[in-house]
Amino acid sequence: MVCCFDAQKKHEYFVDLHTHTTASDGLLTPSQLVAQALQAGLMAIGITDHDSTDGLREAITAGERLGVQIVPGIELNTKADDEEVHILGYYINYDLPWLQDMLASLRHARWVRGKRMVENLRRIYNFDISFEEVKKEVTQGAVGRPHIARVLVKKGIVKDIAEAFEKYIGTHCPAYEPRYHLTIEQGIKLIKDAGGVPVLAHPGLLKDQKHAMLAIEFGVNGIEAIHSKHTPEQCEHYRRLAHEHGLIVTGGSDYHGEKGKDMPQLGDIKMPCSIIEDLKRMAHVTNRLTQSV
Ligand SMILES: [Zn+2]
Ligand SMILES: [Zn+2]
Repeated sequence: MVCCFDAQKKHEYFVDLHTHTTASDGLLTPSQLVAQALQAGLMAIGITDHDSTDGLREAITAGERLGVQIVPGIELNTKADDEEVHILGYYINYDLPWLQDMLASLRHARWVRGKRMVENLRRIYNFDISFEEVKKEVTQGAVGRPHIARVLVKKGIVKDIAEAFEKYIGTHCPAYEPRYHLTIEQGIKLIKDAGGVPVLAHPGLLKDQKHAMLAIEFGVNGIEAIHSKHTPEQCEHYRRLAHEHGLIVTGGSDYHGEKGKDMPQLGDIKMPCSIIEDLKRMAHVTNRLTQSV
């Protein structure tokens, strides 16, 4: 796995700013993830579940016990044209009732869509798969495509998660179903309204780079230039882009708790912990701005 952050030195403290738990589609509970962060030698981890902050409290308690700092985050799946554009949000005030109502309705849309995709797999390919089986993969939080993929792997229909996405449930596959999404602008605004710092996630995975520029235009404060699926050239490119626009550079592995050589592992991407202070400072500014409106 590539880590192209040049400030990586042994004596520094590191944070992996992009991870998932069972509160969305990760395999590890928040406590298990924090324990693994300690083993991986990380001083801090950012927890960025899809459309959910439900794992944060447990993670913070575990972090206090084990001495691992938790950077509270979220990953919103927004959409522009036909493409999913992920926006990370750090240090949002996740106790806000209106925010939790909004996240609950986004998660409900995921269930409806998951059910439709399972029906498609049965109808189009005659696969022996049920929504009950997919639901069993969800320990907490909302259903996502990785849950469906895991059932397909378990049943021997595909050899791994990647094949499930390539052939059956990827964006342009016959069994794929769209679901309700926020627009990029709405996602960024939601994070700012909740007092957080919006960051464009893994822009190197976008098919249309116009969407990265749109996110910048709509006011992200940072770019996740360093990501486990970015090539060293992409890391460099997005780091330059961030600097050109006066944006912060963040980085993370996007660890979902999956093992296997092609899957990102916790701590594959290590950022210097100084970035945590930058994020906190920016969240503080956002908070002051939202309160003064
Ligand atoms: Zn993402
Ligand atoms: Zn992610």
